[in-house]
Amino acid sequence: MTLRLEGKKALITGAGSGIGGAIAELFAREGADLALLDMDADAVDQFALKLEADAGRRCVPLHADVTDAARIQDCFAQAIDALGRIDILINCAGVNVFRDPLTLQAADWDRCLDVNLRGVWHCISAALPSMLAAGYGHVVNIASVHGHKIIPGSFPYPVAKHGLIGLTRSLGIEYASRGIRVNSISPGLIMTPAAERWLASCPDPAAERQRQADLLPGKRIGEPSEVAYAALFLASDEARFINATDLLIDGGRSQIYHD
Ligand code: NAD
Repeated sequence: MTLRLEGKKALITGAGSGIGGAIAELFAREGADLALLDMDADAVDQFALKLEADAGRRCVPLHADVTDAARIQDCFAQAIDALGRIDILINCAGVNVFRDPLTLQAADWDRCLDVNLRGVWHCISAALPSMLAAGYGHVVNIASVHGHKIIPGSFPYPVAKHGLIGLTRSLGIEYASRGIRVNSISPGLIMTPAAERWLASCPDPAAERQRQADLLPGKRIGEPSEVAYAALFLASDEARFINATDLLIDGGRSQIYHD
């Protein structure tokens, strides 16, 4: 059986946890060698060792905060040294910043926009020169349903995710004629460590978990692997005519106007 990413080299940010980790596991199973970038050095080191042993693929751990442009350039150079090239870039590193707009601190605004939007640009701009030289590259950005619909109480996260979808469309068009595709995925609520932390911060976590599941047409919360399969398709040559678009993975919730 042919593996869907046989021989491909992929760099995944935010690979130390949640959706990024699920994408890494699936890509390794489908034949890709990986560079796994995360600011949580211990998590990504342990994960890379385990994945290399389990899947038998090269897994290079990289330690960086995506907001640090110079460090990101160094890490991408390291990845290209180790793997030979980067065919696929998955931008998954991100943070929830949910605040009351009236009391929002400048530092929170900066962190939200820096990690979720500027950090993605740092990574794409570090990958672009070698992708353009090869005339080949697939980029998938993990945006959010917050990039499409507004949930009260989540400012300024939707600002960054709307921007990320704009970045996706803009760069997808900019480089299409040179062999580079840029797409995004917008997950709804997916049960990851970040989602678990958010639920734990609610006054009644069990009731909130049930309320969230009940809001979804299928009456269940999504799983990281369900986002990973979409990333696999978009990052593969199967999707070679799909560019500058966004794929919603929210079980259909965002299509409902009112219950
Ligand atoms: P997570 O917290 O479980 O994992 C995120 C990973 O990114 C962590 O390993 C963390 O260390 C890393 N990271 C965070 N900031 C970083 C930075 N500045 N530099 C480098 N690494 C950094 O989160 P998750 O739920 O798996 O979310 C992954 C992505 O999916 C995020 O972009 C998030 O906005 C998006 N998303 C998640 C959901 C959801 O419900 N879980 C829904 C929509 C979108």
